[in-house]
This record gives sequence, C-alpha cells and structure tokens, in this order.
Amino acid sequence: MKYISTRSDAPDLEFEDVLLAGLARDGGLYVPESWPQFSENQIRSFRGLSYQELAVKIMMPFLGGAIPETDFQAMVEDSYTQFDDPAIAPIKQIGTNMWIAELFHGPTLAFKDYPLQLVGRLFDYVLKKRGERATIVGATSGDTGSAAIESCRDRDAIEIFIIHPKGRVSDVQRRQMTTVHSGNVHNIALDGTFDDCQDMVKNLFGDSDFRDAHNLSAVNSINWARIMAQIVYYFWTAISLGAPDRKFVYAVPTGNFGNVYAGYAAKQMGLSIEKFVVGSNENDILTRFFDTGRMKMAPVVPTLSPSMDIQISSNFERLLFDHYDRDGKAVAKALEEFRNHKSVEFGQGRWQAMQEQFEGYRVSNEETKSGIKNIYDATGELLDPHSAIGVIAGQQCDVAPDTIKIALATAHPAKFPTAVEEATGIHPELPAALANLFEREERVDEMPNDLDQMRRFIEQKLEERKAA
Ligand SMILES: *Cc1c(COP(=O)(O)O)cnc(C)c1O
Repeated sequence: MKYISTRSDAPDLEFEDVLLAGLARDGGLYVPESWPQFSENQIRSFRGLSYQELAVKIMMPFLGGAIPETDFQAMVEDSYTQFDDPAIAPIKQIGTNMWIAELFHGPTLAFKDYPLQLVGRLFDYVLKKRGERATIVGATSGDTGSAAIESCRDRDAIEIFIIHPKGRVSDVQRRQMTTVHSGNVHNIALDGTFDDCQDMVKNLFGDSDFRDAHNLSAVNSINWARIMAQIVYYFWTAISLGAPDRKFVYAVPTGNFGNVYAGYAAKQMGLSIEKFVVGSNENDILTRFFDTGRMKMAPVVPTLSPSMDIQISSNFERLLFDHYDRDGKAVAKALEEFRNHKSVEFGQGRWQAMQEQFEGYRVSNEETKSGIKNIYDATGELLDPHSAIGVIAGQQCDVAPDTIKIALATAHPAKFPTAVEEATGIHPELPAALANLFEREERVDEMPNDLDQMRRFIEQKLEERKAA
C-alpha cells in the first residue's frame, strides 16, 4: 500500500514512513493511494468478531505487508487491555432509531485513546525494528496530550514532550498529563494560549537541524495511523447493529475533522453509511460551509466543548483531495487562497457533492446544556458537552424510518464535570482507575513562550535521559 500527499508534491511513502512522518514535506497530509474494499459478504462474515479481531481485519490492508499479522494482532490486543468495558466501544439505544457509541472507555476517557493506544505501540515497534529512537513533540488543548502520554509512557524508543497552555486546560485534563511520572514523559506548561503552543511545535519542526538531530515525530490527528485506527469503530458499531443489511447515519462532534473523516473512509471501504452529521459548537465554520458553500474563518471563541474550539479543521484537506479528483496541485491552490483571504469557495459541484454526504449543525452553549439535561432526563445517559453536541445534531437530522442513527460519544462526563453539573445538578464521578487523580503528585515544567529556551530545554532533557 502506497500513501500519497494531498498536495501531490511529496514522495509517495509506505506505511512505516507515513507513520513516522506525520505531515508530508509539501505541507499536505498522507492518504492511501486507493481504498481497501470489503464486500457485503465479507462484512457479514465479520459478525461476532471481538473489537480487537475486527480491528486486525480492517487495518491489515493498510499496512501493506509492513508488519506480520501475528505481531500486529499482539499489538492490537495489548492496545485495548486498559479499557474498562469488554465491548471496548459499547453501543446504547437512546431512541427509536437512535443509538450512541461510547468511545470513552480508554485510560484517559476520550475517544483519542482508541487510535493513540495503538499508535504508541506502532511507533515503538517500527523504531525498534530500525534501531532508531524518536522524540515526539506535541501541543494539546487537553485530550490529545493525555492520550499520547498514556500510550507512549515507558516506551524505550520514545521521548515525549507535550506542551499545554498554562492555566487553560481543565484540572482533570492537566492532572491526567502531569501525574504520569515515567522518565520518558516531559510535561511543559507554556505561558500562552493553545495557538502559541501549536506555533511553538510548528517552529520546532520548521528548524530542520533540530528536527533531524532529535528525530522529531508527531502524533496529532494529521497522522494517518490515527485515522486508520478510528475506522475500526465505525465498522464495529454498524456491524453490531446489522450492517451491511441496514443503513446508517453517523453524528460526530467535530473539531479537526479527523473522527468524521475516518467514517468517510469506512464508507469508501464499503460500509453502508448514508450520511454524516457534523456537530459543531459556536466555532461553526463547517456548519456555515455546508450551508452556504463558502468556507470563511472567524475568531475562535472558548466554549463548553474546548476540544472543538477550532477554526481550521486540518483533516478537511483529505476530503477536499477526493472532491478535487485527487488533484493535489488544485487542493494546494484552494488552500492558499483560504490562507491568504480567510475565505474560499471550492465550486458549486464540489459543494453539492459534499452536501449529499455531510450535514452540519451548530449547537450553542445554552443548547448544549439543555441537551445534556434533556438527554439525561429522557434516557438516563449522562453526556459530556462534546458528546451532547453529537446527539443534539443527530436528533435534528431527518432520515428514513429504517435508517439507524449513531452518535459518537467522544468523552466521559467526568472529564468535563463543571458543565455537566451545571446542566444536571449531578457531579459525574471519575471511573475507578482515576479515582485518586486529585491525590497524585504533579510533575510539570513551566516555560515562557520563547523558542530558544524551548529548544535548550528539550536538548537538556534529552541529554539527561541519555546519561541516565
Ligand atoms: C478531539 C476531540 C473532538 C474532535 O475530534 P476531531 O477528530 O478533531 O474532529 C471531539 N470531542 C472530544 C472529546 C475530543 O477530545
């Protein structure tokens, strides 16, 4: 399996290199050259498999022979051992033809555990095979950082540096990062905003001497392997509810467009999905785009669902690539216009084709809170603000009576206790594995927003680790 860049100006890569590369050298994102196909009969034959068994079937074609099946199987098994529900991604009915898929049963309580637990193990496996080490550097507004730390802690071939904006992540989110005391984990609280953290990471990667000297790598959602691992729960939930003999609509609370793009990939691979409902908070650039055909940037406003406080959804580029008939030069041109003018149209035909598959809904803070309460009163399901946006958006979408709607619940309510308590009066409890989170000792280094100091800090930590 070859991977190609969405801007058509970077070398094609095999799976292992795509895993370690993250972003393509032309600034594009890697996608598979073609979509693996599963026939209706194959999909039917997957009924009754465990989540892990299904995961191996769905992902093997993407590896292109890079990893022997038995090794991959062992990695997949190991990835899901820390999940606290035997179904891994349990589904619950909350209405006549409406279900939710709970994707918060991993160690850090957000859906990002589902791909990242595997990605950490894939990194370690490939690096060891090559006799290399890597330095993972990432910025986080909360959920990615803890999920990445949890999957990379104590892995010999990896040092991981996670930069979060000081005082701007929730207490639960911060403690999930700073109470991990593994030697290869380095937490940095940056004096700045999330955008400053992201710029810092971009600048570290932009320094090619520094990048090459320390073999920098990324695990944010532009990494293809993350998308690959997220395709699995679309197949798992749909097959559990009757695919390929039923049709499905997925409602997905969306920020960077990675999660819903994985659903689009599942559809390209043969899964019977009719449509995607893209739920946004007050940062509603995608809703406005699907409604009007114009993608127009607006300032980011903080909301109750901070993991979706985003204006530029990086993974949307992967969808555009297909709608430009995989003409990367044309994609690059359209995105340059967007960068320069903060506004762009992709043409009537493309917009209509996207509208046939995607519907956007904006859910305000007030609607999110009343939704959390209504859903709890009606069904007993306590949802976090992100998950509630998915359900509320999904409820608004009209479908044929025999189509099943599945809303993805992306975080555990205890990850965002304040909003949940304000909405319902109920304080959501952390699961047993995290019950003592607030008694654990924190370890974090504070840093000013200064590139030179950051470079020196990372180099010094890497020296100390070598000496140890
Ligand atoms: C990251 C995140 C999202 C957004 O997912 P994307 O793949 O970026 O669209 C939604 N909900 C939660 C809880 C998240 O952590």
